[in-house]
Amino acid sequence: QKAVELETANVRLLELDQMKTSFLTSVSHELRTPLTSILGFAKLIAKDFSRHFQGLAGDEGRLADRGRRILDNLEIIGLEGERLTRLINDLLDLAKIESGKMDWRDARIAPDTLVTQAVRAVSSQFAQKPDVRLVVEIAPALPELMVDPDRVTQVLINLLHNAIKFTTHGQVRLEAGMPRAGVLQLRVEDTGQGIHLADLERIFDKFYQVAGHDTRVAKPAGTGLGLAICRQIVEHYKGAIWAESAWGQGSAFIVELPVPDLEAAA
Ligand code: ADP
Repeated sequence: QKAVELETANVRLLELDQMKTSFLTSVSHELRTPLTSILGFAKLIAKDFSRHFQGLAGDEGRLADRGRRILDNLEIIGLEGERLTRLINDLLDLAKIESGKMDWRDARIAPDTLVTQAVRAVSSQFAQKPDVRLVVEIAPALPELMVDPDRVTQVLINLLHNAIKFTTHGQVRLEAGMPRAGVLQLRVEDTGQGIHLADLERIFDKFYQVAGHDTRVAKPAGTGLGLAICRQIVEHYKGAIWAESAWGQGSAFIVELPVPDLEAAA
């Protein structure tokens, strides 16, 4: 009797979980369309407007001042809109992975290709922080992986993105190597602010952001979903991801992926 009840409750829970996911997926889709249009129009207004008041000077200088303010405000709309877009995209990714609807396009890929792609994607961010150096070290003759290149690159981009975000000077190191047979390790290490021990496990939770970051300011702030997505992707490939850090000591994020025996499979 008890077992049947438990079984029914379990099925019901699974159904509810499915409903939650499909709700999340459709809401995210619906939000994206108007947001794209809001962002497009904000850009258009900013362009028209700057063209209009560019010629104004002298007596009209005050008008130009006001114009600058309006442009600044339009820029905030743009930045916040981009943040919302990232949040929606992250939510969609998570919902897809959790519901098993993610389209994994696995292919044979060399680790250094993944590293190169990720480094290219974050290069403009590094350019904005001249006091932070990016050092990349790839061990020779690493075996190929059988993964979705976009997804694993996404993991590396997220880790590099965080590393640069929380580091003001020093370096960010990205290493790829094989610490033991059958395991590829990707390591992103920074000389940034570090993470309190109490936060180390929780930062991989959805929406978890360490208290103290002001998320209200209008700069491209995070969503608290990046590491949760990283963990889902890595665990999809039966790998592991964890962080080693202490406050004020910089942080290291380590990803380990099992290396398939591609020769035997061929
Ligand atoms: P966010 O979008 O806020 O970066 P993440 O899931 O990527 O979300 O990270 C969660 C939190 O973990 C961050 O808000 C930050 O507090 C902490 N964190 C992540 N990476 C680092 C790092 N390299 N150094 C210090 N703190 C970090």
